Amino acid sequence: MSHIVSLIPGDGIGPEVVAATRKIIDASGIKIEWEEVQAGASVFKKGVPSGVPEETIRSIARTRCVLKGPLETPVGFGEKSANVTLRKLFETFANIRPVREFPGVSTPFSGRNLDIVVVRENVEDLYAGIEHMQTPGVAQCLKLISHKGCEKVIRTGFELARSEGRKSVHCATKANIMKLTEGMMKRVFEQVAREYADIRAEHIIIDNCAHQMVKKPEQFEVIITTNMNGDILSDLSSGLIGGLGFAPSANIGSGIAIFEAVHGSAPKYAGQDVANPTAVLLSGVLMLRYLGEIETARMIENAVLATIEEKRTVTKDIPGVQNPVGTRAYAEAVIANFGRKPSRLEARDYRPLRIPPLPQGAVTVKTDSRRTIGCDIFLESAHSPAELGNLLETLAPAYGFKLKMISNRGTQVFPDRGAQTDCVDHWRCRHLSTGDFPKAEALGAYLSALEANGLRWMHIEKLEEINGSPGYTKAQGED
Ligand code: NAP
Repeated sequence: MSHIVSLIPGDGIGPEVVAATRKIIDASGIKIEWEEVQAGASVFKKGVPSGVPEETIRSIARTRCVLKGPLETPVGFGEKSANVTLRKLFETFANIRPVREFPGVSTPFSGRNLDIVVVRENVEDLYAGIEHMQTPGVAQCLKLISHKGCEKVIRTGFELARSEGRKSVHCATKANIMKLTEGMMKRVFEQVAREYADIRAEHIIIDNCAHQMVKKPEQFEVIITTNMNGDILSDLSSGLIGGLGFAPSANIGSGIAIFEAVHGSAPKYAGQDVANPTAVLLSGVLMLRYLGEIETARMIENAVLATIEEKRTVTKDIPGVQNPVGTRAYAEAVIANFGRKPSRLEARDYRPLRIPPLPQGAVTVKTDSRRTIGCDIFLESAHSPAELGNLLETLAPAYGFKLKMISNRGTQVFPDRGAQTDCVDHWRCRHLSTGDFPKAEALGAYLSALEANGLRWMHIEKLEEINGSPGYTKAQGED
């Protein structure tokens, strides 16, 4: 059976490691029709601001399967990441990042049989990249986490554990601090875990998880986590088994998947035939499994493991190598090793990952009760906390509000709690409504009154009680 795959060579070392992977997969005898399309730096240079041209989008929409090289992202101001754009355009909600000890690759963790998969939420969280300058000196990034997004990645993690015969799944969050956003991941994890009684489910705080991964990484099998935590944790897990050159990944959506290395375009090695193609190659192995080509995937994975264990024809980043070879020669060696197995740690006995139907469309979480009790108004002002507080206490009652408190970057500064907060010109002013929450017109009148008093507002957040519980968190020091 023949498969059609969109192939994105990528930037930096991308074209070399992708070409090596393509050569190995083609040599395996499997029939893949590669549709080569572009994204990343070359596309930015042509003046396409997203870095992803229409023909690439059309190709992926048709093939529903992508193997891609790394894409460069401008840092700081400038264009968005073409990687993140691809993940978001095709709603690849889960990023699966497996790492496994390689025979012959000596690390401080060798001999502990590490075999960990980080399952990272892939489209939400801070990486949605919804950022605004609040004042010229204060920037904001919105951390949006949805029940649906959590459920999709959590179910994927549990199904992955089952398909690989794993016994435990951890969920790593910062729910102790971000109780509503990170807490959402924890709460949905605990709900979904009840349906997977055959798998031990445990929650762990993300910073302790990072600590435990270095101290006792063999305790982990599958770690499900939010987007940014997962990005960091999966680089850490790559480091445990020898580095980024070995870490593959799969971006999984509904009936669509994008396979790529965890590493980036390593520009300093571009065009030198020195980069290690293993990470992209193992991403290709994940792709073959996704396409149902389990035997070919196993053969290639075993050949890679045997080649690395032998250490005669490997790239220079592999620890302990005496006479390194280039990317191309390494690819030839893997092909020559088709049919061989490493002396230990063969390819796992995988079954295809089958994700059950997941919630689609605009799913709303049903509630028993919901009530707006006030709002946080975010203001820019050069006043002191006391000046601002006194002014708002005077103005608010005429518009149906009572000022509850003012915080500066999350710490209450009015009424004064005796804290020593080094304030900036960005204030969250918590107002409770004295009767029913004012209509939009009355709220607008209050905002106009604030402006007339030299206070510039940035945004408003409603304070909601959902099922009788506050749908907002308190400021530090707020009673
Ligand atoms: P990077 O490209 O991953 O490179 C960091 C270091 O990792 C390299 O200097 C090299 O380490 C090692 N390395 C990575 N891939 C290797 C390989 N195949 N073979 C051997 N060594 C390898 O990270 P970066 O320098 O932070 O990012 C460069 C660009 O890539 C940025 O524009 C970034 O935005 C982009 N990026 C893209 C993706 C993606 O497309 N998914 C992911 C991450 C980053 P040594 O210096 O120790 O030899």
